[in-house]
Amino acid sequence: MTSQRTRERLIQRIRDMGVRNPLVLEAMRNTPRHIFVDEALASRAYEDTALPIGHGQTISQPYTVARMTEALLAGGVLDTVLEIGTGSGYQCAILSQLARRVYSIERISALLEAARTRFRELGLRNIHLKHSDGGVGLPEYAPFDGILVTAAPEGIPPALLEQLKIGGRLVLPAKVRGGQVLLRITSTPQGYDQEQLETANFVPLVGGVL
Ligand code: SAH
Repeated sequence: MTSQRTRERLIQRIRDMGVRNPLVLEAMRNTPRHIFVDEALASRAYEDTALPIGHGQTISQPYTVARMTEALLAGGVLDTVLEIGTGSGYQCAILSQLARRVYSIERISALLEAARTRFRELGLRNIHLKHSDGGVGLPEYAPFDGILVTAAPEGIPPALLEQLKIGGRLVLPAKVRGGQVLLRITSTPQGYDQEQLETANFVPLVGGVL
């Protein structure tokens, strides 16, 4: 069920859907997604769908993870990256192979601790986790080359814009009438450039910690 062939089929699908960055495809190929879901769902881990991870949350669809990662990278490997919404840790594990150091914030401590255990098992040592409300970012380690938000905020959190390096990118789902759209915002010396990428479907970003 988690044969190499099944896993390779998923990578091929993501490629066919338009993700061409070889670094992203290689990171997806190297990352065992079945480790990030409940054992009862392991047989579905290489389907291109979001899956429940408990606490009303989901592990994102693999295509979405690949697309957001590609949008964040836009070229080479990054120095420091911040993720908001660790969840299962899957997106974070992908980022950890494409950045020197990854910080990730999660508001639900049970999810954060499960992710921490998975990173230890997989030997991913450049990930730093924080249990807090990610809406304010992580000013003590800012600025970042990239910030990736995996839950949908009401608007664009100003704190996250302020924590970007010049040239740095913020990739996040934004609420629009009737749904969500993925945005990429690039910090420039003149201000912020905004691009709409495609429609999205994330759980909401909520305040407070559990
Ligand atoms: N990146 C995750 C996706 C998890 S779903 C993965 O690959 O599995 C989104 C996650 O964002 C949930 O775990 C949810 O608890 C978390 N979240 C929602 N609001 C948040 C907030 N304000 N601060 C930090 N995490 C938040």
